[in-house]
Amino acid sequence: MPPWLVDGIKCKCPHCHNGDLFGGVLKLKPHCDKCGASFKDAETADGPAFFVMTIAGFILTPVLLILLFGFRLSPLVLMAIMTPLTLIVCIALLRPFKASIYALQVHKKFKEAKAKDYEHLQK
Ligand SMILES: [Zn+2]
Repeated sequence: MPPWLVDGIKCKCPHCHNGDLFGGVLKLKPHCDKCGASFKDAETADGPAFFVMTIAGFILTPVLLILLFGFRLSPLVLMAIMTPLTLIVCIALLRPFKASIYALQVHKKFKEAKAKDYEHLQK
């Protein structure tokens, strides 16, 4: 397994592989407690949300269909079950996906493109 993926799954700092990446449920710490590396350049945008929506849909849709057609639950009971279940699955998946994408960015030395990076194209 690639080291950036291990860091991502464990939600560890991609620089030193020891410090915790998250300071809250989904909020990154400003810097690593172990090595001091800044996490301010961590910009994963909508990447983790896209993967989590796709995977959560594959997990939760069969559960919904089984509860709806197998157990014939009412819509209110379904909503009472599926809403917290969806939140739990999505938040549980978002942390490692966000950490993995950030760790991959660090591993591949990705950086956000600036306008000055494209000045040579306008001449
Ligand atoms: Zn670190």
